[in-house]
Amino acid sequence: MTDKYAQVIQESQLYLDLIAKKELTQEEKDWVVKSTVEAFRDHVNPGFLEYRKSVSTDYTSVEWSDSGSTFTDVYGKEYIDCLGGFGIYNVGHRHPKVIEAVINQLQRQALHSQELLDPLRGFLAKLLAQITPGDLQYAFFVNSGTESVEGALKFARMYTGRRSFIATTRGFHGKSLGSLSATAKGVFRQPFLPLIPGFHHVPYGSADAIEMMLESCAFIGEDVAAVILEPIQGEGGVIVPPDDYLPRVRELCDKYGALLILDEVQTGMGRTGKMFCCEHYNVVPDILCLAKAFGGGVMPIGAFVSRREIWEKLIDNPILHSTTFGGNPVCCAAAIANINVLLSENLPQRAAEAGAYMIGKLKELAAKYPTVVMEVRGKGLMIGIEFVNNELGYAVAKGLFDNGVLVAGTYINSKSIRIEPPLTITREQQDQVIERLDKVLAVVSKMAG
Ligand code: PMP
Repeated sequence: MTDKYAQVIQESQLYLDLIAKKELTQEEKDWVVKSTVEAFRDHVNPGFLEYRKSVSTDYTSVEWSDSGSTFTDVYGKEYIDCLGGFGIYNVGHRHPKVIEAVINQLQRQALHSQELLDPLRGFLAKLLAQITPGDLQYAFFVNSGTESVEGALKFARMYTGRRSFIATTRGFHGKSLGSLSATAKGVFRQPFLPLIPGFHHVPYGSADAIEMMLESCAFIGEDVAAVILEPIQGEGGVIVPPDDYLPRVRELCDKYGALLILDEVQTGMGRTGKMFCCEHYNVVPDILCLAKAFGGGVMPIGAFVSRREIWEKLIDNPILHSTTFGGNPVCCAAAIANINVLLSENLPQRAAEAGAYMIGKLKELAAKYPTVVMEVRGKGLMIGIEFVNNELGYAVAKGLFDNGVLVAGTYINSKSIRIEPPLTITREQQDQVIERLDKVLAVVSKMAG
């Protein structure tokens, strides 16, 4: 054996021993931090160390464990998680029922043969048909949000035979080439141009803008396959559209024969106070995209769900669209447990109540610090706080982090920060967040002058 491989065996064993450890000594903790920062610097991306600092706070902290609504760094400092993995941890961190399902499944079979019928994929698809609105019936499972959007876009073209799409400004749908074509942020798109042709972006929240684009596309002979949008924009800074937006877009799609793809990767699974955000508006999409919280905050799994007729060509040829790992048994076990927990613990309803409480308290703080906070908005526990400027938002996010609360900037910017805690967050934890935020705002408002 070469020296190189002997070294790799020894080093990987060191990491395996570390993973197996229940407690770390002070020396081991220091070693973990130093080695993690060095590994990021030399082998992941040194930009992360700098970039992260510039977004919301000093992220040289190294995370180590999590439970419920909190996570803990290597040194044992506890944070209330108001970032929630950008909407992953709806049932909380490592919910026991999700962990149990995953362990039970792992002890029997981890991945599927790819040839026989794998039962859990069927069972999960059946549950999904029961909880999704309207006549959504068939599910295709994937590993991430971007893949669910890719699938939805492909199926819209396949079903309609049309090529164009309408997406919205400030929309975010992922970063693979297809989903990136729908994503609206120039900074993510520009280095990769040209993207998929046929995407038109219109201002979010305006049904008139969608109507004009549908009309223009029809006029120039580029009929639209689908309109794709988030029912509430997440990465865009928690933008809640007017109440009649989704119903009007639904009507327009029907009028022009375009499908409506709702990207509920972030808003789905109870986050906004209903299982799916579109239920607030009584709108049923033609294709619904899910990911993030779908795997119970434990396993990565996404899905796109649609009506039977849209599946028709895939029924003729089931491998027209396929993925090796999508819908594997361990991920399906986690997603089944997730649905069970969301419903049995009544978490969508809890999100509605906790969100109303939190938004109320945040609005009181906004009124108290008008030189810092511009607006508080949101639905359920998908909440955005907009600051007067980026610097003040950054100062607040950093202050909160120092005080043991993690919040989310939107990518590359802290003018708006997002509060997306686990839906299981207790009233006491919410009050702690408000109290710490009050303290931070008092300091930052002096900065604002
Ligand atoms: N759609 C929406 C609405 C999202 O918020 C995200 C992720 N922020 C995605 C798609 C992409 O998901 P992923 O990062 O899992 O590819």
